[in-house]
Amino acid sequence: MSVTPVSRPPVESTEKTKQGTQYVFFFGAGKADGNGKMKDELGGKGAGLAEMTNAGLPVPPGFTIQTEACREYMRSNKTSEAVNQQMLTALKRLEELQGQKLGSGDNPLLVSVRSGAKFSMPGMMDTILNLGLNDESVKSLARKSSNERFAYDSYRRLIQMFGNVVLEIPKHAFDEVFDGQKKKRGVKQDTELTPDDLREVITQYKQVVKKHTGHDFPQQPLEQLTMARDAVFRSWNNDRAKVYRRINNISDELGTAVNVQAMVFGNLGETSGTGVGFTRNPATGVKEFYGEFLMNAQGEDVVAGIRTPIHISELHKQMPQVYDQLREITTRLEKHYRDVQDFEFTIQEGRLYMLQTRNGKRTGLAAVRIAIDMVDEGLIKPEEAIFRVDPNQLYDFLVPRLDERSGNIELLATGLPASPGAAVGQIVFTANDAVAKAGTGAKKNPVILVRAETTPEDIHGMEVAAGILTARGGMTSHAAVVTRGMGKCCIVGAGEIEVNDKKKEMRIGSLTLKEGDWISLDGTTGRVLKGQLGTLPASPDNADLQKLMGWAEPFRKIGVRANADIPRDAVAARSFGAEGIGLCRTEHMFFAEDRIPHMRAMIMARTEPERRAALSKLLPMQREDFEGLFRAMDGLPVTIRLLDPPLHEFLPKREQLMVDIARLEINDPKSPRLAEAREVLRRVEELHEFNPMLGLRGCRLGIAFPEITEMQARAIFEAAVNVAKEGKKPIAEVMVPLTVTIKEMSNQAQIIRGVAEEVFKEKGTKVHYHVGTMIELPRACIVADEIAKEAEFFSFGTNDLTQTTYGFSRDDIGTFLPAYVEKGILKNDPFTTIDQKGVGYLVELGVARGRKVRPDLELGICGEHGGDPESVAYCHRIGLTYVSCSPYRVLTARLAAAQAGAADKLNVEAGRTK
Ligand code: PEP
Ligand code: MG
Repeated sequence: MSVTPVSRPPVESTEKTKQGTQYVFFFGAGKADGNGKMKDELGGKGAGLAEMTNAGLPVPPGFTIQTEACREYMRSNKTSEAVNQQMLTALKRLEELQGQKLGSGDNPLLVSVRSGAKFSMPGMMDTILNLGLNDESVKSLARKSSNERFAYDSYRRLIQMFGNVVLEIPKHAFDEVFDGQKKKRGVKQDTELTPDDLREVITQYKQVVKKHTGHDFPQQPLEQLTMARDAVFRSWNNDRAKVYRRINNISDELGTAVNVQAMVFGNLGETSGTGVGFTRNPATGVKEFYGEFLMNAQGEDVVAGIRTPIHISELHKQMPQVYDQLREITTRLEKHYRDVQDFEFTIQEGRLYMLQTRNGKRTGLAAVRIAIDMVDEGLIKPEEAIFRVDPNQLYDFLVPRLDERSGNIELLATGLPASPGAAVGQIVFTANDAVAKAGTGAKKNPVILVRAETTPEDIHGMEVAAGILTARGGMTSHAAVVTRGMGKCCIVGAGEIEVNDKKKEMRIGSLTLKEGDWISLDGTTGRVLKGQLGTLPASPDNADLQKLMGWAEPFRKIGVRANADIPRDAVAARSFGAEGIGLCRTEHMFFAEDRIPHMRAMIMARTEPERRAALSKLLPMQREDFEGLFRAMDGLPVTIRLLDPPLHEFLPKREQLMVDIARLEINDPKSPRLAEAREVLRRVEELHEFNPMLGLRGCRLGIAFPEITEMQARAIFEAAVNVAKEGKKPIAEVMVPLTVTIKEMSNQAQIIRGVAEEVFKEKGTKVHYHVGTMIELPRACIVADEIAKEAEFFSFGTNDLTQTTYGFSRDDIGTFLPAYVEKGILKNDPFTTIDQKGVGYLVELGVARGRKVRPDLELGICGEHGGDPESVAYCHRIGLTYVSCSPYRVLTARLAAAQAGAADKLNVEAGRTK
């Protein structure tokens, strides 16, 4: 039989330089070689600059070296002659247009060299400003600007940035010199240093360069440019960029473009400045002009969060004409791109320049609000609006809020509400400590990463933290932008806080908090509160959200169910739109305090009657749970899986028992507890398995101890009948775990059906039910045609299927996944996003073989992948009946499924209707 072939990515070209390739794209004087659609080649920034230039906006001229040159550089560690030649030609054109020469003459041309990938990666790659300055041109700049301080400050910034980014000299080497000079002169602000001070700093900076590299700081402007360009190419593969790409699912193969652009200066004095902004509020979505700026500053000062910037409305007061022009331009840009714009501008001596525009990152709440508003404003159509929201971001509607009544509200500080939600955790002060203290899996601790400001180097800590708090920075600082993308609670610019990461403490007035102390963040209002407050679940009944989902839902073909084990979760899942329960893991019910003794008694039993006696105690409890689930899901299917995990999971740990026994032997040798503990230890040792995940678990339990299956089936059917008698409509799907042969399936199905008949007879009522199986082992996929003869439905357990296809233990992957990702062996965690080539191949095989025997076979997926948008789209493509995911992923799965359906129907490219 045949299986749908899984498409493979095209093979990368190994050709070094493609003949006739245009590597360099010029923009300036109202005309650009490229345009806004060329993000693949020019990156987001380059495409935006080209588009703005073509639209006649005030953009400093320059050129973009396209991403193919970066890919070539990554392959061969150098740039080709064609790239070098085209760059020289473009530079000449720029010099002619400006009437200046790079780094020479009376009026030297200075340029910025910036990265710019297809997808924005804020702050992850490198930028060099003021390039072209050297010992001579700095003098010309001082004369030309009549501002010595500005000229020497620009030069020292160049050496510092170039030294760090291109020559890879640690930042602190320069900071020590700079801070040393300030100390020597007894000043606090950078701006208090005189031109002579700066000349001294420059001399010392050059010594730092010589000491670290063995060479002088390069004086040749062209050499500076070439070195900077190559460093930007290399920065594509720096650690933080790699982590960012992994988190955001951006391909490592894309490469970055390099933008070389004539410098404009925001630091030329009090009529100059620089800023960033959004055409709408990126946190709430409200239609308001939103931004921050600093006078007499360079761009890095605003974005890096080093100085806390001023609200854009202040610009209206200081420079009304510039403000009006900026509003007019950005409104035009928003209309043009039909999306919120995130822009960067510089004012040089009263004249406005646009440096960047791109579609703005926003919170989930804002994304939905903006999509709805833009439809109301006639800017986009409803079917386009549904693509304007990243399904993962719907989580924002479900994020908890602080429970104001859960404890004393003791306000420590207030900052800017950069990313909404609530986070409660223990303080850590470094990204590494966040990783170490947060832990993984069951040992996960909530930590709050507190920093003076975050930098891209903190990305790994931000990823694991429950929330982020910074003392400095604005709504567009690194912390704010990155956490909004992550959907993580964040407060920035809480200026009352003094962070000392060396001492691992923070001070607020006279109060000192140390590592490990609890704090609570309210990311929606910006409040930092003392202690460990409780949180309230969010309500998903937001009117905007309902409207958007109303537009999206008609496109959805695949069903969405929830993995829920207890009635409370089932109720929540249904309120989020779940269309049934796709997986109830019954074992979770046995861990409750009042149940575990009976479960242990059942496991300890040596004979069948003993086992049955213990099971009979569990029966009413289990029945009650199932009644709750059937009631919550009235009229919708409830898929209940029989006991799955290895039994030892319910017993105390062997090591703990040994310790208890040793203690009792010394302290209380006559205690009856000692004999009991010894008996438990004996059983634990009997049940010990070398590979429990491959041992006595799944349907093997029900086959070895049929009375377990009998009890569970009885609890399910009695519950269903009881709920049916209340006038409700229970739909039971009894699921056998971990089958690999038809005989296992028929063995268990026979018991289940037998119990059903018994119960129906006893109760005098019948209910509708199905018996099916999990498909979670490779063999089950291969013999799915046989299994389907007995199974009325399949649910692909892609957690175990991934585990057994790769041979990667799902509980231990953390030990080697980081190395695999780091070395590029795996792009991401296959337990998060389904591996279409391998695991997906098996799923497709199971689908095809199962359907061949039973065309109406119901097919679901209930592994973690069921809530991952990319995997949901894949399940849609291969024609599954439903995906099942945790209740809090239901909205995400619904939108992802609707987008997949809509993309099929509409002519959609990269989430945009063409
Ligand atoms: C699975 O294996 O995908 C599954 C859902 O079952 P569990 O995670 O309980 O093993
Ligand atoms: Mg499983």
